[in-house]
Amino acid sequence: MEDCLFCKIIAGKMETEFIYQDEELVVFKDISPQAPVHLLIVPKKHIANLNQLNKRDNNLVGQIYQVAQKMAAKYDIDQSGYRVVSNCGQDGGQTVNHIHFHLLGGRELQWPPG
Ligand code: 5GP
Repeated sequence: MEDCLFCKIIAGKMETEFIYQDEELVVFKDISPQAPVHLLIVPKKHIANLNQLNKRDNNLVGQIYQVAQKMAAKYDIDQSGYRVVSNCGQDGGQTVNHIHFHLLGGRELQWPPG
């Protein structure tokens, strides 16, 4: 998608450093971190949000959680704990319309979120 910010990042047009990438996913740091560790796990394929996932994406979603686990270990927050969240739509607080999963940790997170 030409006008999608995360598609541009994935295409290497934004000088964003990838912490991890494979055939399906990239991981990079959030530009406005809300916790000491705040990564974005982003499928390369343009999917607008959770509403657009279908059965064919089941493996992809599994991979996202596998990568979240790896990143939590890499950043040494796997034992202290962390949160993986995908905001969907306006009330969900989604601001970039390319599905992504926030991985947050490194401090005690509050619940419920605001
Ligand atoms: P959302 O609000 O859609 O759940 O999450 C979008 C996230 O993307 C936000 O946390 C925001 O800080 C992050 N973000 C927006 N623009 C950029 C950017 O250009 N680079 C990076 N690394 N993160 C971005």
